[in-house]
Amino acid sequence: MPASIPGLLNAEHGLSAWGAGFDLAQAGTRRWVTVMPSRNDPIAALATPTGTSALAVLRVSGSDTGRLAQEIFGATPSPRLARRGDYRAQGGELVDDVLFTFFPEANSYTGEDALEISCHGNPFIAQTILEDLFARGCRPAGPGEFTQRAFLHGRMDLSQAEAVMDLIHARGERALSAANHQLRGGLGRRLDDLTERLLGALARIEAYIDFPDEDLPPEDRTVVRRTLEALAQETNRLLATSHYGELLRDGLKTVIIGAPNAGKSSLLNRLVGRERAIVSAEPGTTRDFIEERIIVGPHCLRLIDTAGLNPAPSAVEKLGMEKSLERAAEADLVLLVLDATRPLPVLPEIFTSSLSPARALAVVNKIDLTTGRPVEFAVPGGLAVVNVSALTGAGIEALTAEITRFADSFQSPDQEEIIAINARHADALLRAKTCLQAAMGNLDKNGPVELLASDLRGTLAAYGDILGKVDNERMLDQLFATFCIGK
Ligand code: GDP
Repeated sequence: MPASIPGLLNAEHGLSAWGAGFDLAQAGTRRWVTVMPSRNDPIAALATPTGTSALAVLRVSGSDTGRLAQEIFGATPSPRLARRGDYRAQGGELVDDVLFTFFPEANSYTGEDALEISCHGNPFIAQTILEDLFARGCRPAGPGEFTQRAFLHGRMDLSQAEAVMDLIHARGERALSAANHQLRGGLGRRLDDLTERLLGALARIEAYIDFPDEDLPPEDRTVVRRTLEALAQETNRLLATSHYGELLRDGLKTVIIGAPNAGKSSLLNRLVGRERAIVSAEPGTTRDFIEERIIVGPHCLRLIDTAGLNPAPSAVEKLGMEKSLERAAEADLVLLVLDATRPLPVLPEIFTSSLSPARALAVVNKIDLTTGRPVEFAVPGGLAVVNVSALTGAGIEALTAEITRFADSFQSPDQEEIIAINARHADALLRAKTCLQAAMGNLDKNGPVELLASDLRGTLAAYGDILGKVDNERMLDQLFATFCIGK
């Protein structure tokens, strides 16, 4: 049996780099080498938003950045030491009193020589410095180009590069934890592990490709079958985090629904913390949807207020109700608002039949008007009930706790760390799953080893896509185009 694994350690699957990995926060020892070509012409951009502020930060990266710093500030910059200096434009005129830091390539974010300049947060100053940097040979950085370079120079894998954006956009504590975990290589380590096990199985099989007369012995088939089953299970576990990932990145889609005048708009305003929706004693005032993103506990909610469900609607109200029901059907969480001072409303059967504790909560509102009287409803669907007063704020804390418990229930219970994959990861994992299933089918049928190996290579390529072990410049350009300039 040959000892090596022919065709495995090649650039086709980016395997020259496999098992490596870059440790962004010095929290491990993985090293990463990519097969992508790199550009290192000097680029510059403003890394903070335009507008008046205390400070603005400009970023430069690329070859010759050290020389550029020396040319501007007149001294050889000390590595990673913030220095104070006069920024003088090429013509010699003083622009600002700034702090600058030079990062030699070995310790920079991008993996090339880099310079950060903190100036006063006047857009005119920032623009003047930026234009001067362009005049000195830098070109404007494209969206996400600093992070793209970090990836191309092996400073991070693609899942970590995506986590940088997740971190910038994280709304809420859980989204922040998930982004930090991914940035520190949490997802990368899982995939490294899956890949290593897959390579073990592939090694057993590849050995027989060169010996067409020999069939894969039954004991090898059993070991490979067991490995593939375990990999399929792990792949499914990662895939199961996809909905939680969507929820963390986009917010828990929460629809407020109930009879007219139950206090839906008041509840939205109470949760948002300001007057957002029109509150009126006249029923039917919310005909359009109001949507707000708010932080509730550790989560971000996309909170949607809907038109009331009226048992005898006018033609316009009927249209609004249909839309409300559509929204409720698409929601992660439905908050069914009930008026504590009124009997249980007659709600459309199509709506009540879809209510379940797995996706709805009953919020009994106006408890300030029912002093001394316990509110007891035979709530449809056996929903958990929270008693509140949108007017006084009573019970809102309990509602927040209930919403948090609800959102956390989407996290896979068997995940000891927060893994929350994105749509791109899910797409690749689905491809891996399909290849694994085909490989297992092949094994069960005693099919040809070449086909089996090809399915396993397909799985390997799909795992590789997640971390960016692909020679696909267009995909990378598209991905980084969604980043902001200066990042
Ligand atoms: P919606 O039609 O369901 O959106 O109901 P609104 O939020 O517009 O409220 C209808 C009426 O009920 C308004 O007069 C509110 O001031 C009143 N209301 C809402 N919530 C409460 C509450 O918790 N207590 C009391 N006493 N009145 C409330």
